[in-house]
Amino acid sequence: MAIPARFRAFRIHRDDAGHRAGIEELSLDDLAPGEIVVRAAWSSVNYKDALAGTGKGRILRRFPLVGGIDVAGHVLASGDSRFREGDAVLCTGCGLSETRDGGYAEIVRLEADWAIPLPAGLDLREAMVLGTAGFTAALGLLRMEENRQKPGLGPLVVTGATGGVGMLAVDIYTRAGYEVHAVSGKADRAAFLRQLGAREVLGREALAMSRPLESARFGGGLDNVGGPMLASLLAQTVPYGNVASCGLAGSSELSTTVMPFIIRGVSLLGVASAGTARDIREQIWDRLAGPWKPAHLDRICTREVTLDELPGIFATMLAGESFGRTVVRL
Ligand code: NDP
Repeated sequence: MAIPARFRAFRIHRDDAGHRAGIEELSLDDLAPGEIVVRAAWSSVNYKDALAGTGKGRILRRFPLVGGIDVAGHVLASGDSRFREGDAVLCTGCGLSETRDGGYAEIVRLEADWAIPLPAGLDLREAMVLGTAGFTAALGLLRMEENRQKPGLGPLVVTGATGGVGMLAVDIYTRAGYEVHAVSGKADRAAFLRQLGAREVLGREALAMSRPLESARFGGGLDNVGGPMLASLLAQTVPYGNVASCGLAGSSELSTTVMPFIIRGVSLLGVASAGTARDIREQIWDRLAGPWKPAHLDRICTREVTLDELPGIFATMLAGESFGRTVVRL
């Protein structure tokens, strides 16, 4: 397929007139430079996309840019020997919709260093149901396992379990052989979380205890929430267990004591999906396509939208009314 002269993209501006975003017809020259031109097939909607697309959060560091932090599609042209026309590729984070044009476009230009060949075992749509959310959940587990996390240490907690990262973490960690305890404020979603693999579904009050050390009952976990819940998870983690911190859905603050660290050897690990090195990215996508591939991607993906429908989805997401992952058909 030849590169079309004009194509549709969801582009975000901020200038003297303020924030505006919507569908525009662009040409390749409008896009940030990169060695690979991709016919995009699918993207996804993350909370960060909603913040960027509505201007409610300062995500973009230059303007204008095409939105969308995730994308998957086929290579149309490549100036890099690692990729050829027709190759299926994906990219999550890596500056998309932050410092360079992102995935909400029919044609996307990527830097070869950040494009990942689609691993066998995933199709392009599945890769975007996972997207940054699935990548982040898997990165949390990789970090824990690199620090000697094992199923035998005890159950892994996932906080914010009905969020995009949380529900994928519940499925991925179960697939990886862990007993998962999902912590959620939505009691009516308990059956759904059990279907994904959660052995137990706990209310947020399970992480409300605030002494420096509580009885140790969790092997560790992934925290999407921050604040007192993260502090409580640290205080309830077994000796040499790991807690991976990836989100701030409740609070960006953390007030804790050193007791879990110096008495139990608990580790607090950071998870930053955007700046992950390429070798780690490849390792994670290989696992997501193989032993860690979620068993319930169909259930987790609740919506398929077009570029035109993005503003409505952003509004729903920012109002806290969305549930499940949304993919964008390009
Ligand atoms: P969602 O908004 O989809 O989910 C967040 C979940 O957190 C909610 O579904 C809810 O789950 C829970 N929650 C929301 N508000 C509160 C609160 N006040 N107190 C306790 N729990 C709350 O977000 P995502 O899953 O997309 O992302 C999760 C977090 O991870 C976000 O903070 C996001 O910014 C961050 N993130 C970080 C990345 C990284 O690289 N570090 C990458 C991607 C996301 P429930 O009702 O089930 O409790």
